[in-house]
Amino acid sequence: MPQVRVTLKCNNSECGFERERIEDMRDLSLDIVEGCDVTACLTEYFENTEVSVDCEQCGCEGARKSGLIDTLPKCLMLHLKRFRGEGGGAKGSLTMRKGSELVTFGKALDLEGLCVPCKGAGGAGGAGGSNFELKSVVRHVGALDSSGHYVTDSLGKEGEWMNYNDSRVEKREESDVLSGAVGREAYLLMYERA
Ligand SMILES: [Zn+2]
Repeated sequence: MPQVRVTLKCNNSECGFERERIEDMRDLSLDIVEGCDVTACLTEYFENTEVSVDCEQCGCEGARKSGLIDTLPKCLMLHLKRFRGEGGGAKGSLTMRKGSELVTFGKALDLEGLCVPCKGAGGAGGAGGSNFELKSVVRHVGALDSSGHYVTDSLGKEGEWMNYNDSRVEKREESDVLSGAVGREAYLLMYERA
C-alpha cells in the first residue's frame, strides 16, 4: 500500500509550526470532474487544502494540509469517487447518485512529481522507479439499482486484455479499454509498478 507523508502547517504566520506524519493508504480516493485526467486528479489530491485543526504550538485554529507519496507500493489502486451521497431527501436522508464524468487515463502512469524528493536514486519507489502500468479497470455498468453491475477489464501475462462480465470472459482491444466509454464508467484503476 502507498505511504503518504502528510504535512500540516499552522495558518498563523508568526508561528508557521509544521508537523508531519506518515499515513498508510489502502487506496487513493480521487475527486473527479468532467474531462479530467487521472494525473490531474492525483495532483489535486495531494495539493494544499484548508483544514480546521488547532495548532499544538500557538493554539490558533486552521492549517494548510498537503501530501506527498513517501513510499510507492507494488500495486496501486485508484478509487474514482463516482458514487456520491446527495442530501435534500426527507428528514435529511442521503440519496446515492452515480456520476458519469469522463476520466481519461493511459496505460502508463508516472508518479515521480508526487513523491517525496531526495529519497535516493529511485525516489520514493526505491530501485523500481515511479512508473506504473495499468493492469485492471473495474467499472460500473448501468443504473445504480438492481439493473447495474460491475465488470472488469484485465491485462493478461501475454499482454492481451480480457473482459470479465459475470460468467462471460471475452477478449478486448486495448483501445477499447482506454476509450471514453470506459472512462465514463471506470470506478477502480489498478496499476502495478513497471
Ligand atoms: Zn501555530
